[in-house]
Amino acid sequence: MNTLVINCGSSSIKYALIDGSDKLLLSGKHERLGESQGEQTHESAVGQILQEISGYPVDVVGHRVVHGGSKHAAPCLIDEQVLADIERHVPDAPMHNPYSLAAIHAAQTALPGVPHVALFDTAFHARMPRRSTTYAIDYEVALKHGIRRYGFHGISHEYAAGIAAQFLQRPLNELRIVTLHLGNGASACAVEFGRSAETSMGHTPLEGLVMGTRSGDVDAGVLLTLLRQGYDVASLDDLLNRKSGLAGLSGLGNDLREIEIAAADGNERCRLAINVFAHRARKYIGAYAAAMGGVDAIVFTGGIGENSASMRGRILQRLEFLGVVLDEDRNRDASVQKDNDYALITTPRSRVEAIVVKTNEELMIARQARRLVSASRPSASMDIPIAVSGRHCHLTRETFAALFGADATPTIAKPLSQPGQFACEERVNLIGPHDRIERVRVLGPLRSVNQVEISRTDEFRLGIDAPVRDSGNVQGSAPITLEGPAGSVTLAEGLICARRHIHMHPDDAERFGLSDKDEVAVAIVGGGRDLVFGDVLIRVKDSYALEMHIDTDEANAAELNRQQVGELSDVDVDQYVVVTTGAASLVSKLE
Ligand code: AMP
Repeated sequence: MNTLVINCGSSSIKYALIDGSDKLLLSGKHERLGESQGEQTHESAVGQILQEISGYPVDVVGHRVVHGGSKHAAPCLIDEQVLADIERHVPDAPMHNPYSLAAIHAAQTALPGVPHVALFDTAFHARMPRRSTTYAIDYEVALKHGIRRYGFHGISHEYAAGIAAQFLQRPLNELRIVTLHLGNGASACAVEFGRSAETSMGHTPLEGLVMGTRSGDVDAGVLLTLLRQGYDVASLDDLLNRKSGLAGLSGLGNDLREIEIAAADGNERCRLAINVFAHRARKYIGAYAAAMGGVDAIVFTGGIGENSASMRGRILQRLEFLGVVLDEDRNRDASVQKDNDYALITTPRSRVEAIVVKTNEELMIARQARRLVSASRPSASMDIPIAVSGRHCHLTRETFAALFGADATPTIAKPLSQPGQFACEERVNLIGPHDRIERVRVLGPLRSVNQVEISRTDEFRLGIDAPVRDSGNVQGSAPITLEGPAGSVTLAEGLICARRHIHMHPDDAERFGLSDKDEVAVAIVGGGRDLVFGDVLIRVKDSYALEMHIDTDEANAAELNRQQVGELSDVDVDQYVVVTTGAASLVSKLE
C-alpha cells in the first residue's frame, strides 16, 4: 500500500511516497509558494508533485494539518465535516490551515478514488488534562471565544517519544519523557506514560519556547503596552510571529548556524539570543519534570535539536540535580540520519537519559494513514451530543390512568431532543424494599409497555437488582411499585438499568460506517477524567437524531457533570472529544 504524504507548510510543501513496509520511494520539497505573483501556489505545487510521482500507484493520501482543534484526537478520513473543522480553525492557524485546505482540495480533485486522511498537529495534545489546556482568564470569556490551549508539533513529539522508548527498550506507557522539538518552530512536550500531558505551544503556535522568528512566551502586558504605543493587530502579529525569536534578538536572521558563528566571534546580541533560547528550553524541562513528578528521558529533535551540539549542551547545563549527566563526546559526535535515527548523549551513570532523535513526520503520517484505512471498519471522529438520562419512566395508558386518574393525559413540560419525545409535568414515586425515590419524571408519549429506567446507584438505594437492558426489552426484568397522586401500581417487570446507546439517523450511521445493533466503544477525553465506554449499542432509525444516552452514574464517572439531574439533559459537548469507532481499532488507537 503506497501512501502519499503531503506535509503542507505556509510557504512550502514537503511530500513523500512511502510503501507498506515504510520504504521511502520518493520525496521532495516545493518552496517559496505564493510569495509573489505568478509564482507557484500550493495548488499548483500539488499538481506538480502528482506528476513527479506519476509512475507509482497511490493507495492513500495522508495530509498533515496543523490545527484540528480539540475535536480531532485521532487521524480521520477527510469528509465535508472534517473540511469544515479545518476551516473553523483558520483564524487560529492563519499561516497553515488555509494552505492545507487548498492542498487537500487539489489532491482530492486529482486523486478522487483514494481515501484522503487528515493527521493533525494538535491531535496528540487533544487529550491533555484541562489544567493544561486552560488559561486563567475569565472563564466565560474563554468559553465564549474558544480560548484554550491546543498545542502543536504533536506528530513530531509522538514520534520522538516513541523512538526514545524503543531505544530505552521500555514501554512508552511506563515512561515520563520531555520532548523538545527545536526547529524554526519550537516546542516542548511532557509525554507522560505515552500521552501529552503538557506542551509549550498554546492557543496558537506562538506560545512557549524561543523560535526562529517567533517570540514564544511574552507577558501579555507587553502587548497592552505596545497597543497603547500605537501598534495595531497587524503590526503586533508581524512583530511576534516574524520579527522576534532568534531573528529578532540576534538581528542576523533565524538560522542558528549563522548566529552561533557570530556569537563565537563576539557578537553580543547573538550570544544573548543563544542564552535566552537555551534558558527558556531548560526552564521548560524543569517545569515538565515537576508537572510529571519525574523524568526518565529528554529527547531532542528538529533542525536545532538534531544538529546543534552546543545548543543541546547549553540546555542541559545545570540539570545535574535532575540526574542528567551529559557526555560531552557523545553530544559532539551525535549524528542522526534517516537510517540511524537516534543517538544517546548522556553517560552510563546518568539517571535521566538524553537522546537525539531524527524526526520523521512523514513516516509517522504514512503509518497512521495506512492504519486508518486498513482498519476493517472506517473510523470517524466527530462530536456526538451526549444526553445524560436521569431516572425516568415510560408508561402505558392503563398505568398512567391508575397513577394519575382515569381522565388524566400527559402534560408536556418540554420537548426532548429525540423528535416526538417529551418530558411530562407528571412525576411518580418509586418504592423499593429498602427505600423510595420521589418525583421521578414521566416521559411521553405513552407506550405499549411500561419501562422504568434507573441507575445502579438508584438500585442500591431501592434495594432492587435490575438488569442492564436495551430499551424496549423488559421481559423478565425487575419488579417495581409506582406511586402517583391517584393510586399505586406494582409492575411485575419493567425496571431496568438502560444500556448505553447512541441514536443515529441513517445518514450519521453511513458517515460512521456503522449499522443498527452494532456495538462500539466511545472515548470521552479531555474532561479531566477520561474514560472509554465499551458495549455501546448503535440504534439507527429515520426518526432518530444523533445523540448518545448515558445514565447519571456513567456521566459522573466520566466527569460529564450536570448541575441538575433527573431528566434528559444535554451536556456541553464542546468541552469533550468523543471518538467512536469499532472496539478493535479503538484499542489500537489508545495504545
Ligand atoms: P527545522 O525547522 O526543523 O527544519 O529547523 C531549521 C533550523 O535548524 C534552522 O533554521 C537552523 O537554525 C537549525 N539548524 C539546522 N542545522 C543546524 C546546525 N548544524 N547547527 C545549528 N543549527 C542548525
